Amino acid sequence: MDKQNKKPSLLKEIAYIFDKKQKRTLVGLSIMIFFVGILETLGVSAIIPVVTALLSPETLAKYIEEIPFLGKMADFFGIDVTKSGDIAIVLIGLLITIYIVKNLFILFTTYKQQNFIAMSRNLMISRVMREFLNRPYEDYLGADIPTTFRITDSDIPNTFALVMGILNLVSEAIISFLIFLVLLLQDFVLTVFMIVVFGIMTLIISKFFKPRLNKIGVDNMKTQSRIAKWRIQAIYGLKDVKVLNREDFFIRNYYNSGVEGAKLARNYAVLNNSPRLLIETVFIVAVLGYVAVNIATNGNTSAMITTLSTFAVAAMRVLPSVNRINTYMTEVAYHRPCLDFVYENLQDGMKVDKEMAALKAAGQEAPLKLNDKIELNHISFHYPDSQQMIFTDAHMEIKKGQSVGIMGPSGAGKSTIVDILLGLLHANEGEITCDGTNIFKNYESWLAQIGYIPQSIYLIDESIRDNIAFGIDADKVDEDRIWEVLKEAQLDEFIKSLPDGLDTTIGDRGVRLSGGQRQRIGIARALYNNPEILVFDEATSALDNETEAAVMEAINSFHGKKTMVIIAHRLNTIANCDVKYKVENGKITIADIEV
Ligand code: ADP
Ligand code: MG
Repeated sequence: MDKQNKKPSLLKEIAYIFDKKQKRTLVGLSIMIFFVGILETLGVSAIIPVVTALLSPETLAKYIEEIPFLGKMADFFGIDVTKSGDIAIVLIGLLITIYIVKNLFILFTTYKQQNFIAMSRNLMISRVMREFLNRPYEDYLGADIPTTFRITDSDIPNTFALVMGILNLVSEAIISFLIFLVLLLQDFVLTVFMIVVFGIMTLIISKFFKPRLNKIGVDNMKTQSRIAKWRIQAIYGLKDVKVLNREDFFIRNYYNSGVEGAKLARNYAVLNNSPRLLIETVFIVAVLGYVAVNIATNGNTSAMITTLSTFAVAAMRVLPSVNRINTYMTEVAYHRPCLDFVYENLQDGMKVDKEMAALKAAGQEAPLKLNDKIELNHISFHYPDSQQMIFTDAHMEIKKGQSVGIMGPSGAGKSTIVDILLGLLHANEGEITCDGTNIFKNYESWLAQIGYIPQSIYLIDESIRDNIAFGIDADKVDEDRIWEVLKEAQLDEFIKSLPDGLDTTIGDRGVRLSGGQRQRIGIARALYNNPEILVFDEATSALDNETEAAVMEAINSFHGKKTMVIIAHRLNTIANCDVKYKVENGKITIADIEV
């Protein structure tokens, strides 16, 4: 309850998620939609004089004569009011013009509206994506990936469906209002009666349906995340799923969460359609009831003909409008949880943006360039979601040009210390220095000096060239440099033997490469920017002895030319290192071992 009270209003959330320019466009669109409403009303009400001109021209002529302005207009255009055909033709011409102008304008408005929705949606999705990528690495440790996907795939599109719903709601409300105004002039009592009936109906519907649709919206978001989770897990772990023969388990769970989603979709569709049916029923009962009561009290059936025909015309326009108002209201209620989530997310993102900007501004000192040594100064660290200290007052030194080997049992914290060295994780105490300067004083230049090769190389389903020049635009890729690093990684012969050479695509996550080849691609990628420091985190652990020896040969060829940090759990992997450290019990000590 407390939480609900604190929830910002719908308009406040919308105002927050759009920037100034978008808000201006939104206002412009509202104005255009207002004119659409006026034109729609004009279109409906302009039929009446034309029908009158054809059926009883005398009434119309008298009407025009009574109003001096209309008479003068008629004189001005040289229309003879006494000649009924003239008026009819003028009115028909007017009506045609109104419809052409109206529909052209509606087409234009639709273009503007859809353009705004589509472009802003893409802008927002990109904005969310940018903020995700800019978040500190630590934020991702416990991240819920399917939900992350859901924001861009469905929450943001739904948010725009909601905004569109509101725009349409405003438009329909204006149209209904104007049509009711016209009807009011024709039959005051009946119209007031209808307004009261529709008003009460709409109120009841919004009170009854809104909370239910809101809940379905929330449930649906959770279910969508769950469905995505089962899909992602099955596809990412396809090999394990197949070998363990657990396809059925994943299919069943995917199906079961799908059934929940299907039920929610069904309930939403039924709830969304019921107001329409309810309103139509009440409308017909009310109008026919009104007529019946009038006939019963006056006994005059013919007097009711005009009333009925007036309302038949009006109903054609009003009823769909009132129906749509209610449909848009339910739509807005259903998509509200998505808007809330996007709103919260953008708020978080804004915070991250500010923090990152502050960090960047604070850390723009002279670029770092390793001349002497890197120090890990009295590092203490625990992961954000756990109290267990991985390091307490750990210390280590890496001299320029040295090869430093780090070993230790699995789970000792070797990868953790590498992530701290890379600046991905932030030490709770202590700092990493490059020639005595904290690496965060100019973090970009720190990263520019480092090549990182993990145990499992992340490969994209693109060409070998794109995998080495990872994240570099095609027209900026230096082809000669690619061949240089391929030679250094001792992969050039293999690539030359391929019919497509550098253009060979390697399949999703490198399924078409052997383990040794994948690692060599990783080495080539790390070398591309010619970094001074190379960090290998168990880069050869997953390879068989022979392949490991071959890859190690490539790695050892950098000995003395680059500063290297080599992490391994096999001793002979770091046999050639100048200094050997051991990670154990939260400390890093010089390992006194001979190979
Ligand atoms: P190593 O690379 O030496 O095998 P790691 O550095 O990967 O070990 O892990 C060191 C310890 O930190 C392990 O006990 C592991 O359970 C813990 N750990 C690793 N990642 C996380 C994380 N994201 N959150 C909490 N604990 C973690
Ligand atoms: Mg590790």
